[in-house]
Amino acid sequence: MKAKVDLDMCIGSGHCELSCPTIFKVMNGKAHVLKDPIPLDQKDCVSEAVTRCPVGAIRLS
Ligand code: SF4
Repeated sequence: MKAKVDLDMCIGSGHCELSCPTIFKVMNGKAHVLKDPIPLDQKDCVSEAVTRCPVGAIRLS
């Protein structure tokens, strides 16, 4: 699984980093994905991050 943040949509709220700090980091007001692909044991927190993102900026593939 891969995660991608749409930087045009991201408002830097930090919800993804709070849900899953090993995968998402907010830098300069935008979230960045730290691991590609997502390790299997991180899938649940990534799914939580997707759910919590207030603007739906995280896409999974
Ligand atoms: S939760 Fe969504 S809007 Fe907030 S920093 Fe993460 S990707 Fe950006």
